[in-house]
Amino acid sequence: MPLTLSDSSPISLTRVETNEAPFIARCADHTDGVVINLRFDTPPKHETLKRAALRARLQFLIDLESWRLPYLKGPEDKSFGSDAQTVLAKAASLPLDPTFFSDPGLADGFLRAAITAQVGASLSFAPDFQFRSLEDPWFGVNLQCIKRMRTLAPRMPIAAWVHVTLETMLSGVLPFVAERYARELPIGTSLALTVSDMNLERSPEEIATYLSAGEAFAAHGLRVLCDRSGEVAIAAACAGFASGVMIGNRIYRSAPPSPKYDSPYNPAIRLAYFDGARARRVRRETARRRGENGKLGCRVSGDACKAIEAQDDENIELRLHAAHEMRESLRRAHALGARKLGSQWREADQKHLRGLAQALELAEARSQEA
Ligand SMILES: [Zn+2]
Repeated sequence: MPLTLSDSSPISLTRVETNEAPFIARCADHTDGVVINLRFDTPPKHETLKRAALRARLQFLIDLESWRLPYLKGPEDKSFGSDAQTVLAKAASLPLDPTFFSDPGLADGFLRAAITAQVGASLSFAPDFQFRSLEDPWFGVNLQCIKRMRTLAPRMPIAAWVHVTLETMLSGVLPFVAERYARELPIGTSLALTVSDMNLERSPEEIATYLSAGEAFAAHGLRVLCDRSGEVAIAAACAGFASGVMIGNRIYRSAPPSPKYDSPYNPAIRLAYFDGARARRVRRETARRRGENGKLGCRVSGDACKAIEAQDDENIELRLHAAHEMRESLRRAHALGARKLGSQWREADQKHLRGLAQALELAEARSQEA
């Protein structure tokens, strides 16, 4: 099933966590699809999440997370969880370095494993690796993987994934990357864009650089899927370049710069209530109080949504709300556009919303200069 992209507003895809088969079973009316990390479905899990998505007739994408493989020391390395157990890792020589791809037989085996891992998914991503510049050997490997995937699976909708750290993005390389990728990809190809640490803690200048990078890919006719950019995704939707957004309901809201667990992105993060109107998440107690005072509520299903008063054993209600409220936020942002939403945000009481307005203005000014 090819990814159903809407021309009117970005599709909203939910990144699920390792134990979220119950969410997948219930989320069909709340999200446009789910993104499943390949390592969550490796033995002993045996595609539990994928089978749940198929049962729910939900479109899904598989995140191969190939960029994590070069961090593994060998096939027994469990430092980052089950990465070494995936079909993709088993087709690689660990530790993985760019020279692996100079052997056509090994490279093809790796790409075939990537194709197998994504059977049934709405798109087939070419494996990709983090790179720091156009001269980085991994950048060449990424382009090689795209070209070869298209030859090995000519009938499949091949998609690309660009994965960089905040630092690499700020070096200004992404518009050049966009130009280079556009030469390898047919117009209309989907391209997932992951920039680490992209969220509301970034400065307006940094967010503007992100928005300009997304616009650069879209200007070449690529359909940009904004991956884990926190509430900045709502600004991407109103800037108009985002064809889709991939974001988790609790974790997987921002992307870490590396798979090492030295960042604040860990499962101890509490489930919060997503306040779409103000593009932020609030503590459950605060949400409950604001809800009782009539100052906060679900914009999608009103009283039918049980998230705001959900008890601690009803976490799934908060997750379903986060999914439908994010989809609604993206739709509203796209419909209003940068001018209208930007001027609302400029007048807002919240500093983060004024920051987003400023980022939109900066990105707009830069695109007029270019
Ligand atoms: Zn709701």
